[in-house]
Amino acid sequence: MLISDFDGVIVDGMEEYWWSARRAAAQLLPAGAQLPEAVPEAFRQLRPQVHHGWEMPLLAAVIAGYGQPLAAFHADYASALAASLQQLAWPQAQLTEALDAVRQQAIASDRQAWLALHRPYPWMLQALQRLESEGLPWAVLTTKSAGFTAELLSSHQLHPQAIYGREDGPKPEVLQRLLAQDARGGPWRFLEDRRLTLEAVRAVPALDAVHCLLVTWGYLRPGDAQDLPAGIQLLEPERLEQPLAQWPEAAIVQAN
Ligand SMILES: [Mg+2]
Repeated sequence: MLISDFDGVIVDGMEEYWWSARRAAAQLLPAGAQLPEAVPEAFRQLRPQVHHGWEMPLLAAVIAGYGQPLAAFHADYASALAASLQQLAWPQAQLTEALDAVRQQAIASDRQAWLALHRPYPWMLQALQRLESEGLPWAVLTTKSAGFTAELLSSHQLHPQAIYGREDGPKPEVLQRLLAQDARGGPWRFLEDRRLTLEAVRAVPALDAVHCLLVTWGYLRPGDAQDLPAGIQLLEPERLEQPLAQWPEAAIVQAN
């Protein structure tokens, strides 16, 4: 079984993240806020730190000069995020709703244009199509809403066995529930571009049988690919040309 994150692993959605984040932020900020049309460099640089979608409209507001200064985000992302939320008095749910509304409207008014803002990674697309043709099961585990994820996957004729979205809870918890239902108890491969998520999975002994693979092509922070802890391996695009059984293995093997 292969379980894959979506953003930064299957699809490069950078253009869409900014496109929808700036529109959501524009609805919440005073009229006339400066939100450039092209993806700002600061947004590209901070995207690898993003965990949940609602953080992106907040980053757009920060780039427009509201909340904490950009330097604070580079110094300590989590603290600057919390301080900005408090300063702007925006509940997380409001940011999520604004982002969802922008996307729903984009799909309703010009679905093709919205889909075209997303670029699947060709090697990943080929690997997933190959798994499907071989009848091997795969699933998606993402912090994105399952609905938007399904929309994007079906536009590329991809049909995962299941899509677990932000509605399903934190990734380590979803993995534990799924693994508990798996009669064979793994081994599974879990593909991510967020090292912190893999480290959180690795911290759960019940998930020892999960091979945690950090994809080199995603939204990595500087240094993320270096000095990986035991139980997390890098996955390079070239490896995807090989059969799944030959991809790196990173499960924790318990000594008997
Ligand atoms: Mg990701």
